[in-house]
Amino acid sequence: MTAQGQKIGIVGAGLSGAVIARELAEAGFEVEVFDTRPHIGGNCHTERDSDTGVMVHIYGPHIFHTDDAEVWDYVNGYQTFLPYKNRVKTTSQGQVYSLPVNLHTINQFFGKTFRPEEARAFIEAQADKTVTDPQTFEEQALRFVGRDLYEAFFKGYTEKQWGCSPTDLPASILKRLPVRFNYDDNYFFHKFQGMPENGYTDMIEKIFDHPKIKVTLGQHVDPRAPHDYTHLFYSGPLDGYFGYEFGRLGYRTLDFERFTYQGDYQGCAVMNYGDASVPYTRITEHKHFSPWESHEGSVCYREFSRACGEDDIPYYPIRLVEEKAQLADYVARANEETSVTFVGRLATYRYLDMDVTIREALDTARLFLAKAKDEAAM
Ligand code: FAD
Ligand code: UDP
Repeated sequence: MTAQGQKIGIVGAGLSGAVIARELAEAGFEVEVFDTRPHIGGNCHTERDSDTGVMVHIYGPHIFHTDDAEVWDYVNGYQTFLPYKNRVKTTSQGQVYSLPVNLHTINQFFGKTFRPEEARAFIEAQADKTVTDPQTFEEQALRFVGRDLYEAFFKGYTEKQWGCSPTDLPASILKRLPVRFNYDDNYFFHKFQGMPENGYTDMIEKIFDHPKIKVTLGQHVDPRAPHDYTHLFYSGPLDGYFGYEFGRLGYRTLDFERFTYQGDYQGCAVMNYGDASVPYTRITEHKHFSPWESHEGSVCYREFSRACGEDDIPYYPIRLVEEKAQLADYVARANEETSVTFVGRLATYRYLDMDVTIREALDTARLFLAKAKDEAAM
């Protein structure tokens, strides 16, 4: 297949769709992109708040962090990334602590003045040694931080976030968070971290800005309806593509309750709430994501998590152990589709950070182009 005159369809104008569109357009393909929503950017969408002028992460806080130098160069090619470290706080049992759990958290919580090795030994003594091979979220927490820290910071938050007991969730969810025996309170440990100067949507708009890319917004696509595309890249929900044939895959959705404030509401971008008695999981104060800007007014989002209904936006794939067979059925069906490639967080039903999304989109596009080149040579 040569690129000349070949039309490619892409369902979804998020990061996956944008990166693939650009790679294929640069190789000479005509690319048409569709999104149900009235804006590009998918869940990374940012826009200025009409009252305060603050850049808002509409679908929840997004911090760019990666060890992948090529991905870092890629995003910097479309946007200036300014230095940003995510320093998260959590309110629990009437006090504010620093996350991820670090030496400050441990000393404050237990009223101690431990040095690193003392803290390590103390936490190790708290650990539940009967857990040898942690499988669940709760086992992982009890094994690595002990019951007191688990109950203060993780149990209530996780019940609110996932709507189930931490005993039903895989250990892998907690493994995303480090425990540090020093005062490093950077939420991430990646080499490259930052925030796009003009927001993610501006960056994605620049990725789409190519004469061979046409983006149509506000248009829901039935990906199985007849079309004249040589190939389709689909970044919508995997189960939706197959008409929920094997039932619905479990998702959590989020509700955001917006409020404004004159001044600085909470002094940081993200304040988590560890107590089960507080109905929301966290409050995001968006102006702290752009410390290089100056705004008197402030806009904050209280974030509530709940089960995803049929008309809600799917945010977090739950991936309960008992869903594995159902997911395997969908993946097997997806593998049978030769003229459609399933990409991104929804179509592969995985929690993907932005850097991994970009990496996979680049690899997917390159594989497609290499195959097209081979076919043209035959
Ligand atoms: P999406 O952004 O979901 O885009 C898919 C698009 O397809 C959507 O716009 C949708 O409307 C459209 N679509 C679906 N079906 C159809 C259809 N049939 N017809 C037309 N359009 C359709 N990552 C980080 O690296 N750092 C973070 O701090 C971070 N925070 C996050 C916080 C939250 C609350 C969430 C949910 C995710 C976070 N992420 C973060 C992950 C990040 O959002 C994803 O990596 C990224 O959005 C994935 O892009 P995507 O294009 O695969 O999917
Ligand atoms: N978590 C928690 N308390 C917190 C922050 C996180 O219990 O204050 C748990 C929660 O289950 C969450 C998981 O740790 O889903 C991973 O945290 P992360 O910050 O990576 O969550 P995400 O970015 O997925 O919202």
